[in-house]
Amino acid sequence: EAITVGDLANRMAERATDVIKSLMKMGVMATVNQAIDADTAELVVEEFGHRIKRVSDADVEDALLKPVEVDGDAVTRAPVVTVMGHVDHGKTSLLDALRATDIAAGEAGGITQHIGAYQVTMSSGDKITFLDTPGHAAFTAMRQRGAEVTDIVVLVVAADDGIQPQTVEAINHAKAAEVPIIVAINKIDKEGADPSKAKTQLLEHSLVPEDMGGDVICVEVSALKRIGLEALEETILLQAEMLELKAVPDAPARGAVVEAKLEVGRGSVATVLVQSGTLKVGDIFVAGQEWGRVRALLDDRGRQIQEAGPSVPVEVLGLQGTPSAGDEFIVLQDESRAREIADYRQRKNREQQFTIAARGTLEQMFEKVKAGEAEQLPVVIKTDVQGSLEAITAALDKLATDEVKVRILHGAVGGITESDVTLASSTGGIILGFNVRANPQARDHARRDGVDIRYYSIIYDLIDDMKSVLSGMLAPEE
Ligand code: GDP
Repeated sequence: EAITVGDLANRMAERATDVIKSLMKMGVMATVNQAIDADTAELVVEEFGHRIKRVSDADVEDALLKPVEVDGDAVTRAPVVTVMGHVDHGKTSLLDALRATDIAAGEAGGITQHIGAYQVTMSSGDKITFLDTPGHAAFTAMRQRGAEVTDIVVLVVAADDGIQPQTVEAINHAKAAEVPIIVAINKIDKEGADPSKAKTQLLEHSLVPEDMGGDVICVEVSALKRIGLEALEETILLQAEMLELKAVPDAPARGAVVEAKLEVGRGSVATVLVQSGTLKVGDIFVAGQEWGRVRALLDDRGRQIQEAGPSVPVEVLGLQGTPSAGDEFIVLQDESRAREIADYRQRKNREQQFTIAARGTLEQMFEKVKAGEAEQLPVVIKTDVQGSLEAITAALDKLATDEVKVRILHGAVGGITESDVTLASSTGGIILGFNVRANPQARDHARRDGVDIRYYSIIYDLIDDMKSVLSGMLAPEE
């Protein structure tokens, strides 16, 4: 536990220079951005004649993580679906086409709003919620922040193009999240469309289609000609039924931020997906490092609503700041508590940035292996050519001991991208680059999240490093 000098000064409403002077008197030399430990901070606070009130992790966890006693009945909730796939295979088209199947879509009133998620009501009365933020980066970025929002992934594969690099990436993201996959084979209207070829290709990624004796359901669709959309929705509902998705509606809301932005005239606006309970106008909440009181709720057609239950996406007005996609959203009883938690998290986040930057995750992995806490080392491997990818994969497989093995989250040919970083980060893994570099976005992201990217040009060096980690004999890095 630590606090920076600047933060401490702020919280006491004293000048940082005065705090620094007071520290000097105690023999502690610190600059404004440096962190001091809690005991030293306490002495400073006393020195200034302030009252001490430490908020411990336990307090915050108590308030947040202990769910309010809920005695209501759990009811079935709508599945939440993310659409993923290779660029140009038709994710956006499919999301638009599915949206148009909403029985309320034709009704007058309410213009389609893109708030990052929408809900479709089928003629049967069943509902499906779609996250309208295509791309696995969004999916994994959310998961990385602890938001397990998606129940089902719909993998779009264009029938005329088959499985492509980002399809593989999507498959690996979904697998890492342990979310069931439904395959939508799109563009079947096109000349040269070959759905069976796409299916055969799936086999190479251990997705076995139903008609080949497996459990992966493939639905042939055309987003353009609107073919097979109902079949796809039926399949989603069937899968949802097997998952037995339930939530208690009669409770304070908890959910996740899907999207958030600062808008002129409206302030901070967040799209929240309610995961349990019911969110109401007037509710006080914390969303990540921000808090607020719900001033208004708008649905995906821009209509004002009074409340939103489980699996309902809703735009929330009344935030004090802009949270991040994937932040947890929790309704609390009183405002001072909400403020305190938001405050606390902001401070903690600043401190964490220090510690993360100071420590590579390969070292962290090593520590874990040494302590017998890790059973696998998650890695993402990017190489210049297929041959080296295969050689590295095979060599890493052989390193497995009884206690620990390398788990390849994703292996592909090409430079290191942001998507690789989110995947590694969400599982506490590292990235191994063989004769490839990371693009600037990926580098920034990796630095921010403390994800280790290791570059190699000799396979032996790469294997040797991983061997050291596995055997618990990592040589210290110079
Ligand atoms: P995304 O990059 O995955 O979001 O793909 P888009 O939805 O933007 O689609 C890429 C292109 O494929 C666009 O030109 C679409 O019109 C076209 N497209 C999408 N679905 C279909 C389809 O079912 N049939 C045909 N023929 N074209 C499609």
